[in-house]
Amino acid sequence: MTDTVLEVADLAVEFPTEDGTVRAVRGVGYRLGRGEALGIVGESGSGKSVTALAVMGLLPATARIRGSVRFDGEELLGLSDARLSEVRGKGIAMVFQDPMTSLNPVYAVGYQIAETLLRHNPGMKARAARERAIELLGAVGIPSPERRVDAYPHEMSGGMRQRVVIAIAMANDPDVIIADEPTTALDVTVQAQVLDALETARAETGAALVLITHDLGVVAGHTDRVAVMYAGRMVETGSVEDIFYTPRMPYTLGLLGSLPRLDREEARLTPITGSPPSLLHLPPGCPFTPRCPLARDACLSAEPPLRPAGAEGHLSACHFSEELVGTGAEEVFETAGADSEALARFADAAPLNTPEEGTV
Ligand code: ADP
Ligand code: MG
Repeated sequence: MTDTVLEVADLAVEFPTEDGTVRAVRGVGYRLGRGEALGIVGESGSGKSVTALAVMGLLPATARIRGSVRFDGEELLGLSDARLSEVRGKGIAMVFQDPMTSLNPVYAVGYQIAETLLRHNPGMKARAARERAIELLGAVGIPSPERRVDAYPHEMSGGMRQRVVIAIAMANDPDVIIADEPTTALDVTVQAQVLDALETARAETGAALVLITHDLGVVAGHTDRVAVMYAGRMVETGSVEDIFYTPRMPYTLGLLGSLPRLDREEARLTPITGSPPSLLHLPPGCPFTPRCPLARDACLSAEPPLRPAGAEGHLSACHFSEELVGTGAEEVFETAGADSEALARFADAAPLNTPEEGTV
């Protein structure tokens, strides 16, 4: 056993399509310590889900995958389906945005939890499994679990269904839980309940967590580290404090500027304008250039590598990250004079992506 439970290195995923090759993930890497929580944040289309599906071995057969995904030291890329489904069942549990992806509509939720328990504990008695299912439903905050255990998924609200999925993940006693936009379809109060349920699942199982979201606000209280993704790459990574208090990539500043502020009298929002580039025909250079207030010629020729940006483990991919020391989103996004000529040239080279309806 090592301290690292999941290690992704140089992961690249491409989809050949009629229009060309979609470079969905372009060299993503992270290391997840045992019990640690990592937030992966970025706008729709930045490659978050494709990264997660690659880790789980759930990408369509057409996907071209390179790099390495090690779980407990074992390389998962290229494993047989049989061995992979073993790992998926026990080692890594996944929570999707839509709980009906994981729940079977024709069985009561208690039955589905018990089934998972019995699969992993062949000696367990059916009655004990039912008792444990009730306990797990209670643990994830389902009211009257002894009654709800016999309910069908359609008799529950979306938030409750998502908590059932988390109860099933707990029943697996996984080492890693990957939750992909688990709260996106839910209103704010219910979001908090689902995030609490994930906390409980982590506390009870000791699992590490990868929490994927387009909402930087969601990761704040729930992860130790954050990775920001843009156009298929990680563009900044660090502790929650690094990301929230000393961001070194203009895109991160933009995401922060879009958050509602509770600590200011007048809640001033500084959203980023424009949309992410298409991953079909990425021109050279930094893909954030057309939207970046710091952009200049150098940004058009070379894509900046992830490099140290201050505290240990804090990395950012911006040629000019030093210029962000001591600045806030308002200053950068409202007063910096972007090089409009350079921006226009990049925009010509990179047709903007039209975000698809319904993808988050
Ligand atoms: P996110 O989860 O960050 O919103 P995704 O990881 O789902 O983004 O998608 C990243 C990119 O990969 C998007 O441009 C998306 O359209 C593309 N993509 C995802 N799946 C496929 C596929 N099966 N075939 C072609 N392109 C895909
Ligand atoms: Mg997604």
